[in-house]
Amino acid sequence: MDRFIYADNAATTKLSKSVLDKMMPYLTEEYGNASSLYNLGSKSKQAVESAREQVANALGAKPREIYFTSGGSEADNWAIKSAAYIGAKKGKKHIISTKFEHHAVLHTLEYLKKQGFEVTLLDVHSDGVVRVEEFIDAIREDTCLATIMYANNEIGTLQPIAEIGKICREKGILFHTDAVQAIGNVPVNVVDDNIDMLSLSAHKFHGPKGVGALYVRRGILLDNLIHGGAQEFGRRAGTENTAGIVGLGAAITDAVNNIENKTKITSEICSYIIENALKIERSRLNGHPTKRIPGTINMCFEGIEGESLLLMLDFKGISASSGSACTSGSLDPSHVLLSIGLPHEIAHGSLRLSFSEENTLDDAKYIVEQLYPIVDRLRVMSPLWEKIKQNG
Ligand SMILES: *Cc1c(COP(=O)(O)O)cnc(C)c1O
Repeated sequence: MDRFIYADNAATTKLSKSVLDKMMPYLTEEYGNASSLYNLGSKSKQAVESAREQVANALGAKPREIYFTSGGSEADNWAIKSAAYIGAKKGKKHIISTKFEHHAVLHTLEYLKKQGFEVTLLDVHSDGVVRVEEFIDAIREDTCLATIMYANNEIGTLQPIAEIGKICREKGILFHTDAVQAIGNVPVNVVDDNIDMLSLSAHKFHGPKGVGALYVRRGILLDNLIHGGAQEFGRRAGTENTAGIVGLGAAITDAVNNIENKTKITSEICSYIIENALKIERSRLNGHPTKRIPGTINMCFEGIEGESLLLMLDFKGISASSGSACTSGSLDPSHVLLSIGLPHEIAHGSLRLSFSEENTLDDAKYIVEQLYPIVDRLRVMSPLWEKIKQNG
């Protein structure tokens, strides 16, 4: 294979070399337990605390408001379950969210529903953006929590976070946002955006896998998800993942400092692809044309199967995604694409491309060049395409 293009940065990113260099000492000589009192341990402790400052600085938060976790999924579970259980003690058991959240949110909400919580999932319309008026209409006396993602992981659309946060603050509703796809792509400030709780994950911005953080605004009660030792202010037990945490701190610092540069590169790439790939007949861009993170695009090509498209792109050295986690081998179309009103047969033919600052305009040109003949070939073989053409 003469060419390799990684275009699946929304799934995970390559660990940056400089981040790895900063982690290495904590995987080797500096192996002390951050909770031990001797010198070796205190070096780990210092490293953890300075990473906490880095994460706080990246978000406009205070170090005391940052809790390290094993990633985005844990942070989502923790924030939502904590808010729900604390709400329930006051008789508030209603939660507002959206139809196109990540499964770490949706499946947590399903779990809570089995325990008697009521959940309203807001529509995200054909442009993949929640409407603030509909959010206001969904609020009830017993609403304890709103959890709305900052940017969607499949179609990249940005949500009116600051406005929703402001309303929640006025109504005394806790406001959590899954910002896993936003960090490093758009500026995020927990104060300006009126956020009470925020989830993030290091491996989505060139940090290591298996480490993330939950921001919890000062004064908000937090219930333990993981019980045991007194780590993370007594709120999250378990020996600190020192190397991972150091990696998170370094990666988030680089990521927020690099937003402008990354935006320049990825928006050029995406504009080229949108302009040229959409020349293919019966293709479309999914989600709002401008309210989006710059590096993620999701397109549909009618009459083809996303899975076949991915295999053929892979054969040409291009790593992309259909947008949905089809790891289970299920052929169900993505819940995100269904939520924006795409019919099943169109949602099946989806392609998500997500770029980082390591991609180039040349990558975009190569992808489009490959895309034309592949879509043609798949359509020639497709009975569905035959039908679409007959119906005009
Ligand atoms: C990747 C992702 C997660 C899960 O994060 P992990 O660290 O992999 O657990 C949650 N939410 C969104 C929006 C994501 O993109």
